[in-house]
Parts: sequence; C-alpha cells; structure tokens
Amino acid sequence: MADHTHFDWPFFDAHHRVLARELDGWAAKNIHAGHEVDVDAACRKLVRQLGEAGWLKYAIGGKEYGASSDAIDTRAICIVRETLARHSGLADFAFAMQGLGSGAITLFGTPAQKSQYLTRVREGSLIAAFALSEPDAGSDVAALRCEARREGDAFVLNGEKTWISNGGIADFYVVFARTGEEPGARGITAFIVEPGARGFAIAERIDVMAPHPLARITFTDCRIPASQLLGEPAQGFKVAMATLDVFRTSVAAAALGFARCALHEALRRATSRKMFGQTLADFQLTQAKLASMATSIDAAALLTYRAAWLRDQGQRVTVEAAMAKLTATETAQHDFEINGGGADASNRERGGKYFAEPARSREINFHVNGRQAPAAFRDEIRERELQAFAAPVFHKIVENLQIARVENYPGGIAIAKTHEYFRAIGMRWGSSRLRFRNGRFSHVNLRVPGMRR
Ligand SMILES: Cc1cc2nc3c(=O)[nH]c(=O)nc-3n(C[C@H](O)[C@H](O)[C@H](O)COP(=O)(O)OP(=O)(O)OC[C@H]3O[C@@H](n4cnc5c(N)ncnc54)[C@H](O)[C@@H]3O)c2cc1C
Repeated sequence: MADHTHFDWPFFDAHHRVLARELDGWAAKNIHAGHEVDVDAACRKLVRQLGEAGWLKYAIGGKEYGASSDAIDTRAICIVRETLARHSGLADFAFAMQGLGSGAITLFGTPAQKSQYLTRVREGSLIAAFALSEPDAGSDVAALRCEARREGDAFVLNGEKTWISNGGIADFYVVFARTGEEPGARGITAFIVEPGARGFAIAERIDVMAPHPLARITFTDCRIPASQLLGEPAQGFKVAMATLDVFRTSVAAAALGFARCALHEALRRATSRKMFGQTLADFQLTQAKLASMATSIDAAALLTYRAAWLRDQGQRVTVEAAMAKLTATETAQHDFEINGGGADASNRERGGKYFAEPARSREINFHVNGRQAPAAFRDEIRERELQAFAAPVFHKIVENLQIARVENYPGGIAIAKTHEYFRAIGMRWGSSRLRFRNGRFSHVNLRVPGMRR
C-alpha cells in the first residue's frame, strides 16, 4: 500500500481521504500496467472498468447524472489521477479523457445534452474526446481554421483536427470550429460531433512513445444538427479555456503520480542493487539524490493541491495551475531519469507520456505564469513559488555551485537542479549545455540516451 500521509494535509476533506485509500486498493487489485498489444481495446476496457467500479462519477459534474457532486470536485479529480497514474499511465489517460472530453458538456451543456451524454460517460459506456488542436493551431488556439457554416437547422463542418486523444475510439467529440462572427478568439463555437456523421473521418492514427489512441480527424461537408451546438455561438474559446482550466491542475496530479512511482522504483532498486560490497542506497550520493526526489515531489504536491483547493473555493487558478503543472511534470521527467537501466520498463513507459505532452507546452506555462500575474504581484508570486517549489534544494545548490546570482528564474532553478543531479551521480549523462552570461545562466539543453525527442 502506498504512503498516503500527504492526504492528511489540510487541503482535503474526509471524503477525499476515503477516496484516495479506496481507489488505491481497487487499482492494486484491478489495474495492471503493461505493454498493450491492442491499445484501443485496452483503453475501452479501462473506461468500462472505471465506469463499473464507480470512479468515473468524479470525472463529470451534476448529481442527477450520477456525479459525485454538482460542481466538478477538482481535488477528487486530482486524487484519482495521481492514484491511477501511479498504477498505470493508460488508466489515468482513460479517466482523464472521460473528464476532458465531457467537461464542456458539464460546464455549458443544455439539460438535454447533459442527459444524453453525461450519464453514459459516467457509466463508461460512451467514450469522450476533446478536439481543439489543428496542425497550425496548438498553443495559439485562436488561429484555428476548421469552420462551421450554418445551413438551416444544421451546421456544416470543414477542416481538420490533430493530436486528438481517443481519436478512433471516441463515441463523441467536442469540436471547436470557426463560425466567423468576429476574427480570432471571438469567432469560435463548440459542437458535439458523433463519428457516424457523414463527412467525419479518422484520417490518420498517430503513434506516440506511451501508446494510447490518438488521431488526426477530418470534416468534409460534415453536417450536424444545430441542436449539437454547445454553449453560446461565438463563445467556443471561452468554453475551451474553462474546460482546460478544470483539467490543467489534474495534469500536475497525474505527473505527481508518475513521480511517486519513480521514487518507489528508485527506492526499491537502490535498496536491492548490490555493488562494491554494499547496496546502492548505502552511498551518500544516492541518499542525497533520493532526498532531492522526495523534496521535489512534496513541492510539486503542495503546488498541485494548493491549486486544486483554491479552485474548489471558487477562485480562478490559471497561474497556480500552470505553476503546479510545470513543477510536477518537470519533477516526473527528472525522477524517471534517475531510475537507470534497472527500472521497470512499464514504469518508464508511463513516464514517457510526460516526456511527450507537457514538454510541448512548457514554455507556454512559463508564459501563463508571467503574463497572468498583475505586475504588482509578480514578485510576490515569484517568491511564493520559490519557497514552495525548491527553496531547500535551491539554496543548497546555490551554495555548492557558488553561484552569486541565479536571476533567470525559473530557468535558473531547472538548470541548477539539472546540474545538481549531474554532480550527484558523478557523471555526464547524455549532453548538457549551460550558458552562463553576465552573472546568470540562460539556457540548458539536456539529452538522455534512449530518449527520442
Ligand atoms: C500526446 C498528446 C495528446 C494530445 N491530445 C490532445 C487532445 O486530446 N485534444 C487536443 O485538442 N489537443 C491535443 N494535443 C495537442 C496539444 O494540446 C498541443 O500539442 C499543444 O497545445 C501545443 O501545441 P503544438 O504541439 O502545436 O505546439 P506549438 O503551439 O507549435 O508550440 C511549440 C512550442 O512553442 C512554445 N510556445 C508556445 N507559446 C509560446 C510563447 N508565447 N513563447 C515561447 N514559447 C511558446 C510551446 O510551449 C511549445 O514548446 C495533444 C498533444 C499530445 C502531444
């Protein structure tokens, strides 16, 4: 049984602690991470299992559809994702996509749309997908080009979406298309599209390091009834951002689960691997490394559950969620590197998901952190994050490396942490490029053998 002591922190209510304990017990018995030959079948099975066991009630909102609460319980979603990610990356994916794919319906759907979709999403009998990204519109959502033209009682969609998780197995897709009321973000509308609609096609399945259903989809004169419009016309950007805001914090929680899994593996390996007449864990350098992992994990957990708790208090958490996601995903990525050649392959695979996805949006997280903070609060936020993020490790590093000033925060911390890691293992692993100019570090390129990027 995993260590649950962090659930004693004051962020949680009693039912959160029960959820964490019961889900962990269930996952240990029912979820087995492995190399899936048929990832579609594995994913469908996981959605069904999660639905039948009742865990998908946390992925939606609205008690009348069987949800655990009317408003989405962010802390519960985070607990579920952290726990599932520790057991299986694909189980976490299956849960997360049921939530992300149906989130816009929970938040903006009509009563008819909610009863048509949410109950079955919760049961695990309908698989959901969220189709926003396009080949030329990723971070820059307002650049999307897929269009929807009104024709009587219908909308006609033309265009494409890519990197769509659950693409190929989903029973419905929440699709964002340009309806053209105004240019940019103000001319986008959300729709619910079912794959049976004429003109809908799976154009390509996409392979990734951590296999899961992923596809490019196309719409060619794809006609859908106007009743499938989701939210207000021209409000699609708002619908997309509100949905992503709910789930952004939970990405951090999943990364936290991966990082905990990595620490568990590292401890198991270090205490059992015999070398030089003792075990790997007997070396002080190893102990320092494990202590650093544990510190980073707690820092990431504090940021994650701070964001989740604030959101459950009704506050806007764009900055806090971005900080949590950035810290937790970097911790997960870093911690998996530590496991070395003896690590369980399936666990590496789980971590691989996080080499792929958040890495793509790392800079945008820095950007969100910087841009969203009103100037007067930036220093305070920076200080708060420093304290929660890595203060103990950071100060030790600054001392060791005798760096007078590390101003290029947060890149400076990432670089310093990387450097500490390299020093701790006493070797150069892959290649690292540090630029030090005018009293500050500015850039690092890190490549670990076997990592395809
Ligand atoms: C495994 C996987 C699953 C996915 N699932 C889905 C899904 O289900 N639905 C969906 O709609 N999309 C999905 N996506 C797409 C994902 O949302 C996009 O990859 C993401 O939005 C980034 O877009 P992009 O890949 O086009 O990168 P780009 O937008 O081209 O960004 C490239 C780089 O530029 C950086 N960058 C962006 N803005 C700035 C800035 N202002 N300053 C400096 N740097 C910046 C980014 O951080 C990134 O590193 C998925 C992607 C992956 C990898």
